Amino acid sequence: MIEVRGLTKRYGEVLAVDDLTFTVRPGEVTGFLGPNGAGKSTTLRLILGLESADSGTATVGGRPHAAQPAPLRAVGALLDPGAVLPSRTAYHHLLALAAGNGIPRSRVDEVLDDVGLGNAGRRRAGAFSLGMRQRLGIAAALLGDPPVLIFDEPLNGLDPEGIVWIRHLMRRMAAEGRAVLMSSHLMSELELTTDHLIVIGRGRLIADMTMKAFIAAH
Ligand code: ADP
Ligand code: ADP
Repeated sequence: MIEVRGLTKRYGEVLAVDDLTFTVRPGEVTGFLGPNGAGKSTTLRLILGLESADSGTATVGGRPHAAQPAPLRAVGALLDPGAVLPSRTAYHHLLALAAGNGIPRSRVDEVLDDVGLGNAGRRRAGAFSLGMRQRLGIAAALLGDPPVLIFDEPLNGLDPEGIVWIRHLMRRMAAEGRAVLMSSHLMSELELTTDHLIVIGRGRLIADMTMKAFIAAH
């Protein structure tokens, strides 16, 4: 479970995240909706401990992510698939992450198979298509078998087959009891996949409701 309480982050004059409070519950896919620049990525980086807040707290399973002894076991995240290191093979990328988080190397083959990259593990990530990089990023997120998953704009640039695949994966992860948070700037990407909706604009909370209630109201 993710708990965000009064989270606030400024970049100079820009109030990127403004007193945000919300909860992401286990067993659900929660959609995180807002226009470009609303503060979604900043919020996700704060939850992951990749940046520090000016005030407020974000905890994963009761602790700040950065304080977890094995962060990849606490939360898996897909942030920027374009950033996946080009020169290493998919297998070595995952192996390095596993080693740094005390995860057995047998898990690397498991997650490569899980995301449909079983045959591509020995290839360099630099030669991967966007869809394959997306799958590699998801393999990294699943490596530690974490109870919490965070996907930042996971459908961006994917073909229809990839979109269907990621949607099914998120549904399956929630059905297994994980808390899944997925951001998007498009309502159309969220309505088919999510149980709960959190909407932000200019860093502030605009709505926090079930998808059923949202659809009934619109
Ligand atoms: P979203 O993910 O919803 O598109 P972001 O969290 O990326 O929004 O950005 C929120 C606001 O914070 C924007 O105004 C953006 O320009 C600003 N911002 C984000 N990251 C930085 C940064 N590292 N330095 C300065 N401003 C930033
Ligand atoms: P390092 O600083 O060892 O090179 P990274 O820059 O890859 O590590 O990661 C920085 C932090 O983010 C670490 O705490 C790491 O465990 C965490 N991290 C890296 N990749 C992921 C991911 N896919 N999901 C969740 N956390 C991650």
